[in-house]
Amino acid sequence: MNALVNFTKIFKFNGGVHPPENKAQSTQLPIGQLPLPEKLVLPLRQHVGNMPKIKVSVGNKVLKGQLLAEAEGAVSAAIHAPTSGTVTAIEDAIIPHPSGLPDRCITITPDGKDAWMKRQPQDWRNADRKTLVASLRLSGIVGLGGATFPTHIKLRADGKSDVHTLIINAAECEPYITCDDMLMRERADEIVKGIEIAQYLLGAKKVLIGIEDNKPEAAAAMQAATANTAMQVIIVPTLYPSGDARRLVHLVLGTEIPHDKRSTEVGLQVFNVATVVALRRYFELGEPSLNRIVSMTGNVNQPQNFEVLFGTPLPHLVKAAGGAKPDTTHYIMGGPMMGFDLPDEMVPITKAANCIIAASPTLFEPPPPAMPCIRCARCADACPVNLQPQELYWFAKSDNFEKANDYKLFDCIECGACSYVCPSNIPLVQYYRYAKSEIIAIDKAHEAADLARERNDFRLARIEREKLERAQKHAERAQAAKTEATPETNSHTDAGDAQKSAKQAAITAAIERAKAAKAAAGIAPKNIADAGENVKKEIAEIDARRQAVGIEKPAIDKDKQAKIAAAIERAKAAKAAAAAAKQNTEKKD
Ligand code: SF4
Ligand code: SF4
Repeated sequence: MNALVNFTKIFKFNGGVHPPENKAQSTQLPIGQLPLPEKLVLPLRQHVGNMPKIKVSVGNKVLKGQLLAEAEGAVSAAIHAPTSGTVTAIEDAIIPHPSGLPDRCITITPDGKDAWMKRQPQDWRNADRKTLVASLRLSGIVGLGGATFPTHIKLRADGKSDVHTLIINAAECEPYITCDDMLMRERADEIVKGIEIAQYLLGAKKVLIGIEDNKPEAAAAMQAATANTAMQVIIVPTLYPSGDARRLVHLVLGTEIPHDKRSTEVGLQVFNVATVVALRRYFELGEPSLNRIVSMTGNVNQPQNFEVLFGTPLPHLVKAAGGAKPDTTHYIMGGPMMGFDLPDEMVPITKAANCIIAASPTLFEPPPPAMPCIRCARCADACPVNLQPQELYWFAKSDNFEKANDYKLFDCIECGACSYVCPSNIPLVQYYRYAKSEIIAIDKAHEAADLARERNDFRLARIEREKLERAQKHAERAQAAKTEATPETNSHTDAGDAQKSAKQAAITAAIERAKAAKAAAGIAPKNIADAGENVKKEIAEIDARRQAVGIEKPAIDKDKQAKIAAAIERAKAAKAAAAAAKQNTEKKD
């Protein structure tokens, strides 16, 4: 262990646990190579961020390294053909994700030639950083420590940088996982070349390489490879989760990155050891991200690390590791602390797959039933983020998300150290994941509601604006028409007068026609008016002539008298009607 003598001060973080390492099983053999599988299934979403945009169609012939899908949006990563062959499907397929849901995948059937496209290495030492960072977007490189954050996002697009220290994460603290260990043992020189590129891109003055003290061969290899450089290998104690970027920063520098800040805001950047190898291959060999080292371990006959093409079906890898033992129940992707059960054996290997563990009841005993919390606070002692896991558990369990937020739920890195030490076997991390997903869903719903409200306000404002514009136009048109119509006002008046005269003439004609009709009926207006008097005069004249000739007045004929009275009444009524008709006609005029 002489190689691991560490003269650098280490700053221990709070908490942490030391579960059984189980690393030796997969470090007995060198990194193995796999034969080409019969097909490669490449999920489009192998990284954090947007799904990339497909650039090929079914039936297309592709060469090794050819772009299949380009990064779409700010946070996204490209996908390339891991070998030459034919695109035989673009469809939904089961992917290695805890949800178990299918997602879009491109299937390539290899032609067996493994024929490369034209590779274009770059003279990165003599290129400006801005150009190199822009080019990196085409590389498909993501963080290979498991986070899968697109690497070009970790560098400023303008090529400038505020980073003074680059920290290479080679801690690999999770049990069973040994891919970084084997990479350092076998390819330390390549790692150093990759670190030089990362250092150049970031403009970092200082490089620190953090390795846990349970990897003496790897640490020795790295110390040898960095002997003539200013890079410094720092051996850190084996304590889970020292591989968490913030914990590693604390270990090697004693710097606590505020929970609401990114590491670059305090002048630090952390790259995984495998990621810098991908950088070296991209810039110095012109090879995009096509494969990674995967630990195939657990309940298989020959645990080993393999260099695996992305898209390789899991059974192909299991077979290369001597096959799974009969009591294998399922497979875990990642380590036993932070990994997840794969939904199906037929999933492809992706950029996030640093380790596959074949699980059996012997290796992973079914957890005993959870018991009530006894408030022992062991979880708080183990928490590397200084949270209160038992409080978070209560708030998550009771759907008190506001309180969970107050207790910094989102600072939880889901390391599982609390669950690991809990004597009541409470699956604490599951409660935290549930609460986080609920809070995210609520936030999204609020965002959607706010957006809908904004859209509605905008719509109402637009309608109001259009209404005002229409009213204004109408007013302008009316004003214009009024101005133009002024000389024509007299002609309008003349027309009105003519209309009025015509109306008057019609009324007069109607009166005349009524008079004529009345005259035709023997009731001339004048006679009507004086009809009663005339009849009386006639009777008086007749009576006088009778007396003059000595003729007696005849007895009054009652019928005749009634008829005369009726005639008088009709005459009166006709007179009244004529007077009313005249009055009405005068009013209308
Ligand atoms: S370790 Fe488990 S039992 Fe103890 S306080 Fe935490 S949650 Fe409760
Ligand atoms: S899972 Fe979260 S709460 Fe539990 S120990 Fe890790 S950081 Fe702390």
